[in-house]
Amino acid sequence: MSIRPWRDIARRQSRQIMVGNVPVGGDAPVTVQTMTNTPTSDPVATINQIRRCEEAGADIIRVSCPDTDSTAALAKITKAARVPIVADIHFHYKRALEAADAGAACLRINPGNIGSSERVAEVVRAAKANGCAIRIGVNAGSLEKDLLEKYGEPCPEALVESALDHIKLLQDHDFHEYKVAVKASDVFLAVAAYQGLAEATDCPLHLGITEAGGLIGGTVKSSIGIGSLLWFGIGDTIRVSLSAEPEEEVRVGFEILKALGIRNRGVRVVSCPSCARQGFDVIRTVQVLEERLQHIRTPMSLSVLGCVVNGPGEARETDIGVTGGGNGKHMVYLSGLTDHTVEDADMVEHIVKLVEAKAAELEAADVAKAAIAAE
Ligand code: SF4
Repeated sequence: MSIRPWRDIARRQSRQIMVGNVPVGGDAPVTVQTMTNTPTSDPVATINQIRRCEEAGADIIRVSCPDTDSTAALAKITKAARVPIVADIHFHYKRALEAADAGAACLRINPGNIGSSERVAEVVRAAKANGCAIRIGVNAGSLEKDLLEKYGEPCPEALVESALDHIKLLQDHDFHEYKVAVKASDVFLAVAAYQGLAEATDCPLHLGITEAGGLIGGTVKSSIGIGSLLWFGIGDTIRVSLSAEPEEEVRVGFEILKALGIRNRGVRVVSCPSCARQGFDVIRTVQVLEERLQHIRTPMSLSVLGCVVNGPGEARETDIGVTGGGNGKHMVYLSGLTDHTVEDADMVEHIVKLVEAKAAELEAADVAKAAIAAE
């Protein structure tokens, strides 16, 4: 039993599917996705962007395939990518067939939008033959006409009904490797729709607040929407949609998971807003540290506080801590205990070195643990 029951999240039990070699749903870790914005027909630019997203930690990456030039380039892209690639298709079912043949691990396509049942059968055949999953993506902005007429406006019931209609088409063709999203830019609508869908089906759910906005506004909306659902135990994979570079979406996605203790990656920074008591420039120091520590993947924590008011308390709970002191001399804590002091000028370099050393130590401990478990 957890000693901190107020932190427990009871996760909805979903069916697990595979997107390439990445499990989604069931007891698999909640995965973080993003989407490229380079022309897919330019494989070099797209692969370069995929690399940056992989470095940021993306588990799955989606690319749009609006035309044959894109699906022609897709084979090179899927071969170069280290993570599974989802091909985003709208309406043109032939692009789906080409994408499946080009190595896409998943097709994002709504079977209800591609015309006849024979076309759905063809897409399902291609998906089965190539081991592709399918992601159904219902969006409040493009709901089917009949549902809009029935409900009068996009509402949670309409989004869920649309999703269930698409799901039925796949099930009728005996296809079950699918996950579903019911996105809306309105947080209330999206959350209510996902809650309804979570009750109505056991398939894995892909969470997102669509068209959420720029880096700050979109992060806030996504954190409330995706964060609430995850807190309710709903959601198996997430994509934060921002009018910002895809790497930023990945970073924000991980920050949401870290804040809820669902999944940790890299350095979790605890820092104060600073005030007149600060012993060093907290804001600038944290900005530089966040940039310099992006390469760290090992989960660990770092507290950076401007003075002794809250510094020692936070340092006790983190792997490495620094608390501002007088005369440009600041206290460094290791594993919660006071250890040594550092001067203003050396602080950033010093903390980066300490974090890198701690990450190496934690990694070595993990390797040793795994070796003992394997014996
Ligand atoms: S920790 Fe100190 S410097 Fe930071 S906000 Fe609190 S009182 Fe101000």
